[in-house]
Formats: sequence, C-alpha cells, structure tokens
Amino acid sequence: MHELSLIQALIETVAHSAVENDIAKVNTVKIVVGEVYGALPDALDFAFRVLTKDTVCEGAVLEIDKTPLVLKCGACGSEYQPDEINWKCPACGAGGVTAISGKELYVDYYEGD
Ligand SMILES: [Zn+2]
Repeated sequence: MHELSLIQALIETVAHSAVENDIAKVNTVKIVVGEVYGALPDALDFAFRVLTKDTVCEGAVLEIDKTPLVLKCGACGSEYQPDEINWKCPACGAGGVTAISGKELYVDYYEGD
C-alpha cells in the first residue's frame, strides 16, 4: 500500500526525535503531504495507526495538511494549478514547468510528554 511506505519514514523521524528529546509518549503528529502523492487521508490515518503500534507514537492523533500542486512556467513565469491531464501553461502553452508546491512530504511538528 502506497500510504504505508509514505508514512513509514515520517514515523521513524518522529520516533527518533522523540527518543532524543526524552519524550515517552507522542500525542499529536502533524504532517504535510503534497497533492502529487495522491495519498488519501483515510489511508494515511490507517497506515499511521498500523505503523505506530508499539512505538512512542502509538495512540497519537495524526493531523494531515495537504498542499495543492502549483506549477511555475519556465517560459513566462506564470504560476498555476494544473488540471489532472494537462500540465501545460495556460498563459503561453509552454510545457517546461516546475512544481513549486505540492511535492512536500514532511513532519510539520509533533507534541508529546
Ligand atoms: Zn507560460
């Protein structure tokens, strides 16, 4: 399952950091997931619960912040949100675009005792 592998590394990051900071129990984990990953919140939540079993993150609340995909045109500099099939620049039609948002995948913060 896609979401399992996405969230695995994030949990390891939090668990590692929690141990280093003497946190015995993590209560909340907030993650930022870019739209480009296509991850479903329900599936992320399920993956989180499965993967945090017997870790310091067990029972923690998972908050998910999804960032929309935003592209920037290399030719004219327009920034836009593409539709699913057509990623070309709506202003000039160029195809040389870079994603400036929507590819994030990181832990925003976590809280614990
Ligand atoms: Zn353009």
